[in-house]
Amino acid sequence: RAMSSVFVPPPKCLQKTFVAPQRHMFGPGPSNVPPRILAAGAEPIIGHMHPEMLEIMSDIKSGIQYAFQTRNNMTIAVSGTGHTAMECAIFNAVEPGEGVLTAVNGIWGERAAEMAERIGARVNSIVTSAGGYFTNEEIDQALTKHKPVLFFLTHGESSTGVVHPLDGIGDICHKHNCLCLVDCVASMGGVPLYMDKQGIDILYSGSQKVLNAPPGTAPISFSERKCQNKVFNRKTKPVSFFLDMTWLANYWGCDGKPARIYHHTAPVSAFYSLRESLAILAEQGLENSWQRHKEVAEYFHEGLETMGLKLFVKDKNARLPTVTTIVAPPGYDWKEITSYIMKNHNLEISGGLGPSVGQVLRVGLMGGNSSKASVDMVLEALRDALRYCHKSKV
Ligand code: PMP
Repeated sequence: RAMSSVFVPPPKCLQKTFVAPQRHMFGPGPSNVPPRILAAGAEPIIGHMHPEMLEIMSDIKSGIQYAFQTRNNMTIAVSGTGHTAMECAIFNAVEPGEGVLTAVNGIWGERAAEMAERIGARVNSIVTSAGGYFTNEEIDQALTKHKPVLFFLTHGESSTGVVHPLDGIGDICHKHNCLCLVDCVASMGGVPLYMDKQGIDILYSGSQKVLNAPPGTAPISFSERKCQNKVFNRKTKPVSFFLDMTWLANYWGCDGKPARIYHHTAPVSAFYSLRESLAILAEQGLENSWQRHKEVAEYFHEGLETMGLKLFVKDKNARLPTVTTIVAPPGYDWKEITSYIMKNHNLEISGGLGPSVGQVLRVGLMGGNSSKASVDMVLEALRDALRYCHKSKV
């Protein structure tokens, strides 16, 4: 007789097989994962310290160095999403009581400030309206005033659709003896970015946007030279064991030590996929990818304006090619539009986030999704939604 000690029965819901629907993932992320990357993720599992795995990690490192345009040896993928890399950067660069300055022109600067506060940093922010960005003079003045050890800036503000200029900001930070941390989760691969040339000291991204890999791994790189005294010679240990760069650097073979010590079990399949996505980017070429995202975005923006829709970011040069923000069409309920498009076109676009909630619709065309065919699909879906969704008289 079978043992009858379990009092929670096997759930009925698990008897059904789950089949994921095919959808056009044209929101701000995750983007569609092409079959080649999905197939890589379905390869057999090997050990996280097997020689083939160490080789894959080394390939990933090279791929990230290419995507970031850096020669930094301390270049790895964090096991976790963009938020994990964000915390990895902040937790390793800042000690309790130290000053952090975040540039807030959307939700990511707010989140970075909250993370720094949680580890006991003294946090100040410069804030501008959603859709705007900062001049180098404004950043210089704020650094003079607050004297932080770390400055946080979002390159591609996915909540507002703004791409922030980067030239000169690294030098300004260094003049103030401050590290320059940049978030390129939504921009990497879709917008020109040169980590070393632009003097960025810490840079992180995500796997699920332009790279078209599944969510769950996050590229990050530290400039050893600039981070020598902050990240790698701290007075206190970082609050997180999991995100301690001293451990991670060893695990990724970046510390020059002969032996690799087990730190955590790498998400093996996720690394296969990430490697494949970086291989595709390398095959296509960064410049080609940047150019395609720019051309497709311009084609999209023209189409939107022809339809009578307005772009949220007024300054053409500040429009993020990967994530477009459209002024929420007046008289409509934006939620009805996004639901209508999902239901009738099997296509995801989203509403605003943080400071842009209620003000915009957001459309992400990233990596393989950045094509004129995708644009035509989105324009058709929007046209259809504006015809059939309820419009108030005002
Ligand atoms: N930064 C930016 C600019 C992003 O767009 C996102 C994801 N929307 C994140 C950080 C956080 O990434 P994740 O959702 O993978 O944690």
